[in-house]
Amino acid sequence: MSDVGVDVDVDVVVVGAGYAGLIAARGLLDGGRTVQVLEAADRVGGRAMTVTSAAGTAVDLGGQWIGRDHVKMRALADEFGVPLFPTHTRGETLVRHRGRDVSLFSTTGVAVGAAFARLAAAERLGLGARDDRTLAEWLAKVEPRQARRLLEVVLGEVTATDPETVSVRAVAEGIRAAGGLREVFGVEGGAQDALLTGGAGGLAEAVATALGPVVRLNQPVVGIARDGGGVTVSTPYGATRARRVVVTTAPPVAKAIAHRPALPESRELVQRDTFMGTVYKAVVVYDTPFWRADGYSGELFALDGPVPSAFDVSPPGGRGHLCVLVPGRGARHLDDLTEEARRVTVLAELARHFGEPARHPMSFHEKSWHRDAYVLGGYMALPRPGSFEDVRTAGAEPVGRVHWAGTETSPRYGGYFEGAVLSGERVAEEVLAAL
Ligand SMILES: Cc1cc2nc3c(=O)[nH]c(=O)nc-3n(C[C@H](O)[C@H](O)[C@H](O)COP(=O)(O)OP(=O)(O)OC[C@H]3O[C@@H](n4cnc5c(N)ncnc54)[C@H](O)[C@@H]3O)c2cc1C
Repeated sequence: MSDVGVDVDVDVVVVGAGYAGLIAARGLLDGGRTVQVLEAADRVGGRAMTVTSAAGTAVDLGGQWIGRDHVKMRALADEFGVPLFPTHTRGETLVRHRGRDVSLFSTTGVAVGAAFARLAAAERLGLGARDDRTLAEWLAKVEPRQARRLLEVVLGEVTATDPETVSVRAVAEGIRAAGGLREVFGVEGGAQDALLTGGAGGLAEAVATALGPVVRLNQPVVGIARDGGGVTVSTPYGATRARRVVVTTAPPVAKAIAHRPALPESRELVQRDTFMGTVYKAVVVYDTPFWRADGYSGELFALDGPVPSAFDVSPPGGRGHLCVLVPGRGARHLDDLTEEARRVTVLAELARHFGEPARHPMSFHEKSWHRDAYVLGGYMALPRPGSFEDVRTAGAEPVGRVHWAGTETSPRYGGYFEGAVLSGERVAEEVLAAL
């Protein structure tokens, strides 16, 4: 079908200016089409967001790490002259329980190793695994208790949700799509290999700036009406007529857009049977990475207390950045505190593990992603137990003139920036071929 000759404002409207939307818009413009990107928030980047610390350093409050195999993101950074720097790894990783170090050369370590081997087998088996068995049910079988708790912490960091909300199969498939266990948990050579100078939000802003005035902020799309001649995309401030529309928000976020005629049941399922992970992130900026002098790498897994993990994400130049990630119910507990109480809680936990200097940062930055009105959570949308198959097969199938992108639609690296970029490229080609 060719859309030539239809009376429209632009060829394509792209909903959302995260990496998927920005890369889709770029591909469409390169293909000679007119584009308008409508972004609900007052900034571009979506789940990438960079702020500036009191030390003048870039602080990523959303996604940050670039994997060794994330070739699209690496190429994009290169194109925009943004150098990557390696994630710091030297020193001891702390695994702590009730103030004591947990040795991985112990029954706990052996049990964790065995559980990961089972997960790797499930990852390899993939399609054969049952989808109604939750991660919590799987974890309940792990002994001793300390091993179970360590797995809960580590897998919580990877999924950003509580173990009773996801199936083992969804987790195993997610790991497989991201390149396997070694890749997902690996720092050097793995998914946490490097960071972007100026932050992931900084690179997104550079991509948006290069697109020019096609990106419009504060434009939440509330309705899409499709007919034989095109689509009408509405915000509270007006409507844009286009030949086609690309929706790049995660499926649970896309629920807020009303469609006329209604979407088919298969697409409704994708939006209804997925949910966003729950994650609180803080980045604490210090004069120096003082923990390194004590022999610590900055990587922490704590089996008790309100801060289950921390990572050294310090940029070159001498300042110390510790990143704290709290998933699931731990994140919701922090929501109940005042901003000041959260800061005191996080700093006290870092001091408990890394020493008193942790109480005296230059600046403290935080974001509860599940409270962001236009993102609703992170790191990504997850299928509810039992719905994996429905969700994955219908995820990227266009509905007439409505096309779908976003990291969740990518069969490779779904949940990562890399998946978002891959989806943006894929959808641009799909739409160009359809126009
Ligand atoms: C705390 C955290 C840590 C993470 N860590 C990493 C990491 O280290 N490495 C990594 O690779 N990935 C990481 N991720 C995941 C990564 O950030 C995402 O995979 C990626 O940013 C998704 O991009 P996207 O374009 O698909 O979606 P989004 O970035 O969510 O973009 C969708 C856009 O649509 C907009 N929008 C929503 N509703 C509407 C509407 N109705 N109308 C118009 N616009 C709308 C949103 O505001 C948003 O800008 C992390 C995510 C979080 C939250």
